[in-house]
Amino acid sequence: MSDNLIEMNLFEKAQAVEGLFVELEEQSKQFHAEGGMGCLSGCGFCCSNPEVPASALEFLPLAFDLYEKGLAEELAAQLAADKSKGVCVVYRAQSADLSKGFCGNYAKRGLICRVFGASARKNNKTNLKELITCKLLKAERPEAFQEVTARINSDLDIPLAPAYYTRLKDIDEALTALHPVNEAILLALELVLRYRFYEEEDNAS
Ligand code: SF4
Ligand code: SF4
Repeated sequence: MSDNLIEMNLFEKAQAVEGLFVELEEQSKQFHAEGGMGCLSGCGFCCSNPEVPASALEFLPLAFDLYEKGLAEELAAQLAADKSKGVCVVYRAQSADLSKGFCGNYAKRGLICRVFGASARKNNKTNLKELITCKLLKAERPEAFQEVTARINSDLDIPLAPAYYTRLKDIDEALTALHPVNEAILLALELVLRYRFYEEEDNAS
C-alpha cells in the first residue's frame, strides 16, 4: 500500500472509491455496447435479495451523498432500529413480490451493484473468463449468454471483478469486510456521521 493511501481521510477514501467506479464504467463500455446482456426491463430481482454482500467502503460515496442531502442521520437511525435484514434501503420496489423495481441512488450504488452484469471472473481450472450475471438473464437469453461468453474470451473487453475488489482493499482493507447490504450502508453512514461531527468540532475550536 502506498503512503498517500495510508494518509487518506474518509472523504478522500470515498473519492478514491468513486474513481474506481468511473474506471470500471469506462472499462465496461465496450461490453455494454456489444455484449447484448443488458438487464430485463423493469427488473430489480437482484436488489430484492437482503443478503447482497457489500462492504462499508463501497458505500462511502452513497453515505456522503446522503449526508449532503441531510438524510444520513435519519436513515442511520432507521437502519439501526430495524434489526431485521431487510431489502436494500435504497431499493424502490415496484411490485408486491419486490422483483420489479429500481435503484433509488444509481449514481452512488456500491461495487457489488456495478460488477453484476458488467464484469467477469477467471475460472481457475479452465482459465476462461466467466461473465458475472444473474440466473434470470442466463435463462431468458441463453444464446446471447453463450455468444458473449465466447466473445469475452476472444475479442470483447470486459473488466475482471476480482481486480476491482483488490483495488478496493488497497484503499482501506479494514473497511472491506462483507455484510448484508443494509448493514454495510449503516456502517458507512455511521463512519460519515462521525467524520463530519469531528470535522465540525475541529472547525469550531
Ligand atoms: S442483473 Fe438480472 S436480476 Fe438483476 S436487475 Fe438485471 S436482469 Fe434483473
Ligand atoms: S444500492 Fe441500488 S443497485 Fe445496489 S442493492 Fe441497493 S438498490 Fe440495488
